[in-house]
Amino acid sequence: MDTLQEAAVMDETLDPPDWAEMQALSHRIVEDAVAYLKDVRDRPVWRQMPVEVRAFFSEPLPRSPAPIAEVYGDVARNVMAYPMGNIHPRFWSWYMGSSNFTGALGDFLAAIQGSNLGGGNHAAGLMDSQVVDWCKEMVGFPASASGTLVSGGSMANLIGLTVARNAKAGVDVRERGVGAIPKPLRFYASDQVHSCHRKAMEVLGLGNRALRRVSTDADLRIDVDALKTAIAEDRAAGFKPACIIGTAGTVNTGAIDDLRALAVLAAEEDLWFHVDGCIGALIAIAPENRSLVAGIERAHSVALDPHKWLHAPFEAGCALVRDAVAHRNAFAVTPEYLESTPRGLASGQWLHDYGLQ
Ligand SMILES: *Cc1c(COP(=O)(O)O)cnc(C)c1O
Repeated sequence: MDTLQEAAVMDETLDPPDWAEMQALSHRIVEDAVAYLKDVRDRPVWRQMPVEVRAFFSEPLPRSPAPIAEVYGDVARNVMAYPMGNIHPRFWSWYMGSSNFTGALGDFLAAIQGSNLGGGNHAAGLMDSQVVDWCKEMVGFPASASGTLVSGGSMANLIGLTVARNAKAGVDVRERGVGAIPKPLRFYASDQVHSCHRKAMEVLGLGNRALRRVSTDADLRIDVDALKTAIAEDRAAGFKPACIIGTAGTVNTGAIDDLRALAVLAAEEDLWFHVDGCIGALIAIAPENRSLVAGIERAHSVALDPHKWLHAPFEAGCALVRDAVAHRNAFAVTPEYLESTPRGLASGQWLHDYGLQ
């Protein structure tokens, strides 16, 4: 063994074996990435993977190290060449964000810093909160509201609906579970609602049937009269109407429910008002079209999806909750190892208190 190897054995490290080689490869990756985006129009939106490429993904668990340049070669050949295609200007499948180069650089630096956003007193945590604050401001929420960045819209809706369930249950659901809820809760949304709400009802223990799909008008917006009737029927039948879900931009057609009317109805009926704004919430900042989502600022909770219309790289979602105490009460837990200290790293705010992630 030479002295360098000896030193490496003595002092194990996660550093790459050769920084200069890593730097050169990194430069190449950046150059390739720029070309990849610049030339995207010259490539097909999508193409079928040949069998050899598919076979690559069935290769067994590697038992020995491989040089990083070789790994990159594999990724370039087998992964980068066969994308979903949603960054292509002619991608017309589904509603989808397109990522962006600035966001990719941000993701790179986030991974380089490697901070855990569970919380703590460090700059990335403050930046996270600042982004949430800006989202609040964009949808017209008060500064006293709270929010959290999550993996995407499905999780953002789940956060909002969890706070709604807990706030309207009439018992301490966290402690006693859904079995203790005295009257079965009912949530309402249009028949155009995204499927994540069904999953949310299921994982919240309320069941798919607790989500009543209300019919829509000729423009595929929720029929507010039909909604009123549904709420009255449910009350008469012994259910507890708990929450109206309005959609700002349905995934089928982009229809936007009359959020103002839903806000008024929710207030009259004492229901939680949640807006699924994964597609359209941020029309709120478009000077000529913000009236389309008027009423969103009156919601109790909003889900929005920076990885859609803002084209942040996947994944980035955001849940906003008007009542910061109700939000925190739905998720906060302080185990010994996450106790706060009066100063230092552990004196910051704990972002994990506002969600599951
Ligand atoms: C995309 C979408 C969702 C789910 O968001 P993900 O980020 O895919 O989890 C929910 N609701 C609507 C209206 C959507 O368009």
